Amino acid sequence: MSHDASTDSKVDENSSRRQEHFWPNVKAWLSGDRDSPAPIVRCPICVETEIFVFGIPKSSPDIERLEGCVFACGHIVCKPCEAELVETVLRNARAIRDDPGLEGQIDPEYRCPICRFVFDYGKPNECEHFIEPRLIWPSNRTESGDRDDHHNIPDYIINEHNRPDRCNQCENERRFQRVYRQLSSRPDLTPESVSMAMEAEEYRFQRRLARDWPLWGGWPEYFGPEGSLPDPAADARIDFEEL
Ligand SMILES: [Zn+2]
Ligand SMILES: [Zn+2]
Ligand SMILES: [Zn+2]
Repeated sequence: MSHDASTDSKVDENSSRRQEHFWPNVKAWLSGDRDSPAPIVRCPICVETEIFVFGIPKSSPDIERLEGCVFACGHIVCKPCEAELVETVLRNARAIRDDPGLEGQIDPEYRCPICRFVFDYGKPNECEHFIEPRLIWPSNRTESGDRDDHHNIPDYIINEHNRPDRCNQCENERRFQRVYRQLSSRPDLTPESVSMAMEAEEYRFQRRLARDWPLWGGWPEYFGPEGSLPDPAADARIDFEEL
């Protein structure tokens, strides 16, 4: 279903600030496209709720803002509405399981309430994981004190045209098993070099994910800061492009 998010913007009556619930537009403003006044980020479901985005001022000093999250399609909702959505989906799925006659009457799909994009992966029966939303952390520091990356929640949007076949984790496992089978069957490789090569493969895979799927993959912490390690594939002397 096509959806032109840019037409969603409404201008707030009390200020010249436009109302926004589409992350790429919020991010464009945060990233320096500040010719216009800051957008007011408001939940499109409950409408009243303003969502905390670090770097974007409140619409008035006496209002409370709530945490929000960004769906894979780019739409932003407040955390309570997202939680309610998940509860409804689970409740509907249970109801249909108990009474198949309800199918078609209630919606068991975890989908965006704005554009109706379903947050699951492309291949039926292969990966049943959801495409999880990403929390907009309400500060520029995480709980552990690290610099938060929420300004860096990318504006990469998943839709019907580029929906991945399976989640990063499942894709990773599939590829890992395939490469492991191929390497283990090679007589010229010792178990040590296979395990070194597998580590290299994991590193390369994660680096690719972090580059291509930054929002829904991310850089795994166990590798340390991205780019801080030399690529171990260079030492493994195995050309993975051939695998
Ligand atoms: Zn809401
Ligand atoms: Zn959406
Ligand atoms: Zn999965």
